[in-house]
Amino acid sequence: MTAPFYVQGAWFVGALLFIFGLKGMSSPASARRGIVIAGYGMLLAIAATFLIPGLQNLGLMALALVIGGGAAWISAQKVKMTDMPQMVAIYNGMGGGAAAAIAAVEFAKGEMHGLVATTLAVLGALIGAVSFTGSCVAWAKLQGVLRKAYRLPAQNAVNVLLAVIAVGLGLVVIALAPERPELVIAFFVIALVLGLIVTLPIGGADMPVVISLFNAFTGLAVGFEGYVLGNPALIIAGIVVGAAGTLLTQLMAKAMNRPLSNILFTPMVASGPGEAISGSMKEVGAIDAAAMMRYASKVIIVPGYGMAVAHAQHKVWEMTELLEEAGVEVKFAIHPVAGRMPGHMNVLLAEAGVPYDKIFDLEEINGEFGQADVALVIGANDVVNPSARTDKASPIYGMPILDADKAQNVIVIKRGKGTGYSGVENALFYTDNCRMLYGDAQPMAGEIIQHLKSMA
Ligand code: NAP
Repeated sequence: MTAPFYVQGAWFVGALLFIFGLKGMSSPASARRGIVIAGYGMLLAIAATFLIPGLQNLGLMALALVIGGGAAWISAQKVKMTDMPQMVAIYNGMGGGAAAAIAAVEFAKGEMHGLVATTLAVLGALIGAVSFTGSCVAWAKLQGVLRKAYRLPAQNAVNVLLAVIAVGLGLVVIALAPERPELVIAFFVIALVLGLIVTLPIGGADMPVVISLFNAFTGLAVGFEGYVLGNPALIIAGIVVGAAGTLLTQLMAKAMNRPLSNILFTPMVASGPGEAISGSMKEVGAIDAAAMMRYASKVIIVPGYGMAVAHAQHKVWEMTELLEEAGVEVKFAIHPVAGRMPGHMNVLLAEAGVPYDKIFDLEEINGEFGQADVALVIGANDVVNPSARTDKASPIYGMPILDADKAQNVIVIKRGKGTGYSGVENALFYTDNCRMLYGDAQPMAGEIIQHLKSMA
């Protein structure tokens, strides 16, 4: 069914709004506006679809919108910032599943128009189905529902075998569909199983990268199915999501120094006993930590996942303002994968009111740690672990890190002796210039604030 020009026009405007929205998301300052603009684009595209003459099942479509929109509205209100990756995973899975379902419906109708449309429908179905089950596994792992990484004895060989069978069945479907519905069903089953089997062995630390990869897959699948349906809004939205997901995946893989093939096919484990760590962890009290920073000329704050869990960003900003009033230069150093997704720390600091010109990326700030009197590491761990530079056996070997250890003094706020996301010991905590301030990041920042006030 071809949509009339006014529907096509509205879809086109919707697609433009997606692009402007994405542009807005490139900076924390305009990100909220970008999301709202893209949201309006989606609303417009959906409303215009209802205007296609002769459309059937309007009631069912409206019901699906109410159920899907309602569930998304409620969960988005409730989700904690630290649970965002699993929310992205499950929404992404729904997108992939929807793309596969479009192809399934088109095959069931037996109305494929030509080789190109059939090929794209099959490709979209394959990628969408893999993304659907893979994203569901990713959600379950990050949500803590699935706690183990399940690895088959010849995992990579099984992956390749399943992929070959899925592609082979896809080719048969292109040649024979819709005459052989049983082959279409087998194709979908294998594609869904492939997503499961590929994702189950991947460990939690690599999961955000995998989610981003599936995000790119979903975009591609949606774009292909957009072609099948003759819907330009879906094609453009799919391409935009696919491109953004691909760039994000590359960024994360580079920031962790793990090639994508390594993330997908090699478990993240130590390759040997690793370098012995000498020294001991030395404790410091909040009053001494406050004094070290109050009488410093330059302090660099390194926030990490723990700051997010503790919701300590507002207190950290209050502490920064007090230090600045005392004449201390304070900067924030953000590692590209600090927290649980890229931009996690930037969003939190922006929410607390930290000006953007105080926030620096790894490449911008790493040269400055040597001139800092204090590096305050707050709820971060892996992203400041110097073993990543030297210990070839470490699972994080090669990951670029923030050079906090090069500061004159390092203060680390964390609750106890727990390891970071990768599960490895942090050599920084044992160095002579490092002091541990044990406690939850929020009350600890609060205590430092009280001491700073009393020193004013
Ligand atoms: P991290 O290595 O997970 O360390 C966080 C630290 O925060 C822990 O050592 C924990 O120690 C402490 N902590 C937890 N709750 C706390 C609280 N309430 N108050 C104070 N401290 C608390 O975090 P990160 O340094 O930010 O590194 C991010 C990790 O995630 C990296 O391994 C990275 O590769 C991985 N990752 C991130 C992304 C991304 O896009 N951001 C993607 C993929 C993987 P205690 O338990 O002792 O308190």
